[in-house]
Amino acid sequence: MAGELVVVTGAGGFIGHHLVRRLVADGWRVRGVDRKAPEFEPTAAHEFELRDLRRPEDALAALRGAHHVFALAANMGGIGWIETHKAEIVRDNTLIDLHSLEAARVHGVRRFLFSSSACVYPAGRQGATDVTPLREEDAYPADAEDGYGWSKLATERLCRHYREDFGLDTRVARFHNVYGPLGAWDGGREKAPAAVARKIATARDGDEIEVWGDGRQTRSFCHVADCVEGLVRLLRSDWPHPLNLGTDRLVSVDELVGLVARIAGRRVRLRHDLSKPVGVRGRNSDNTRLRQVLGWEPSISLEDGLAETYRWVEGQVRERDRRTAAGGSS
Ligand code: NAD
Repeated sequence: MAGELVVVTGAGGFIGHHLVRRLVADGWRVRGVDRKAPEFEPTAAHEFELRDLRRPEDALAALRGAHHVFALAANMGGIGWIETHKAEIVRDNTLIDLHSLEAARVHGVRRFLFSSSACVYPAGRQGATDVTPLREEDAYPADAEDGYGWSKLATERLCRHYREDFGLDTRVARFHNVYGPLGAWDGGREKAPAAVARKIATARDGDEIEVWGDGRQTRSFCHVADCVEGLVRLLRSDWPHPLNLGTDRLVSVDELVGLVARIAGRRVRLRHDLSKPVGVRGRNSDNTRLRQVLGWEPSISLEDGLAETYRWVEGQVRERDRRTAAGGSS
């Protein structure tokens, strides 16, 4: 391990930034790569390079000398983003993933971990709020989420082809709704937990807040520290097949709002907007294989994780208000 170089792509983003911090704390030599620097605090990486991984020459340069790669770079966002930017997302992510895998092959990278998504699972298995948790093999016969989900599924297969045909040792994690501090909370790319935290942080006691859909759609949510722990364990493991990385506690969006409102100490009324995109009706992670393979599963409670996330988002909202009040001058 000492002296070995780990490259994290997407290190300017939410999960990548947390992962870099953890890897540096564990004693790895880390190079972060992204199109942008982390937004909320400086990177902990020993090196940080601004590169556009859609370009093959950038991917080649980014992965030079790498022993291990965590491939997290992607054009992505919450449901409002991925439903409305399909061509851009599939184009960008296909280019990023192909060039990153190819650069890893050229440089003889030892292990390459790809960040896939629960969006690879077929819509037909996610039609009810009390959905049966999804096992890894349920991804086939395939009917992934249109756009983003198909691009993730295609790269999962490309990882297998590179492993089988070129001997590149690949790992694939399927994330289920990762949340926590230092993630997008405004601007269109934010996901439900951060969006709910922002809406409640900007509401007054008794205010009405908008909830997308009828609020009964269900998901499971995974704190970013658990996600990072799972990534480190998966890279070390011998498991080359896709693995769920999430919790199996199913909550509805209305329940999520209720939890955040309680944390904030605020009463809010809900206005359901049925015209907004909501994705599948229900989605949960079956963690049987995760427990078998890693001997571990996420353990941070939703209450604790949301409390930390809410405090951080509230701080961001206050800071923005302060700047606005000061005319953007401070
Ligand atoms: P994020 O948007 O915060 O991070 C992605 C990073 O990739 C961004 O910093 C972005 O600038 C960078 N990027 C985009 N295009 C690039 C390019 N052409 N070249 C270099 N960098 C580029 O998202 P995140 O939540 O940290 O997600 C990380 C990974 O996990 C992504 O692959 C995402 O698809 C996957 N994932 C995340 C979740 C989740 O709940 N957050 C769920 C499923 C899958």
